[in-house]
Amino acid sequence: MKTPNKHLKGIITRCTNYKESDRIFTLISDDGIMKFIARGAKKPSSKLSGHIEPLNYVALYYRPSKSLNSVSQVESIHSFLEIKKEYNLILKAQYMMELAESLFSENDDNSSILSLLINTLRNIHNSKIPTLDILIFEFELLKHQGFGISIFDCTNCDKELERSDHYFSSNVGGFYCTTCFESKRLLDQSVKVTVGQQLILRTIARKNYKDLISLNLSEKEISNCRKLIQNSIRDIIGVQLKTVKFSDL
Ligand SMILES: [Zn+2]
Repeated sequence: MKTPNKHLKGIITRCTNYKESDRIFTLISDDGIMKFIARGAKKPSSKLSGHIEPLNYVALYYRPSKSLNSVSQVESIHSFLEIKKEYNLILKAQYMMELAESLFSENDDNSSILSLLINTLRNIHNSKIPTLDILIFEFELLKHQGFGISIFDCTNCDKELERSDHYFSSNVGGFYCTTCFESKRLLDQSVKVTVGQQLILRTIARKNYKDLISLNLSEKEISNCRKLIQNSIRDIIGVQLKTVKFSDL
């Protein structure tokens, strides 16, 4: 019996040409990360051509296979042309796709990650500070995957953190209060975080994104917050992402 075609939506992260006229591509979707072959997609007459390129959000029909799933129909829902016009935004998008891929898990529902990625990609070209959008993306992504950073309370004794500089440890994904920090002598494993940086993270944790704009943040402040989150990401996935070193994302 013929396997029925299945329908799927997702973002294409990578494409390669295969043989004379085929394309192979990777898709991140609600169903996980999947590879497909689009036969004849390189032919100009193919109805698939133009839709299969990285950073396209597509809807497709495919026939499931034990080796490579073969697509019969692909249509772009969003091509993110505004991003594709700017090299720096392309790098940012690539980084976010790679990060989402690395934190996807086989058995969990990944739909919230996918919508977070799509929403950030939809908005980033209009953003006054794109790095802030990425910081929010990184923060939310870790939270979705159960690696949320503890911002308001001491990670050791659960006491509410008072308004002062505190030390953050990416190993434990949180802050130490002054007492715990001094008693544990954790200087070499922790990074000092200013009240200002904590305020940024607290505002993101409360989802008061509009208030972030009124904080008049500098790139430097955002970048310092991102370093904390990126240390946590590095600890979680165990490797440095390829795209991180390509630019000051
Ligand atoms: Zn404590």
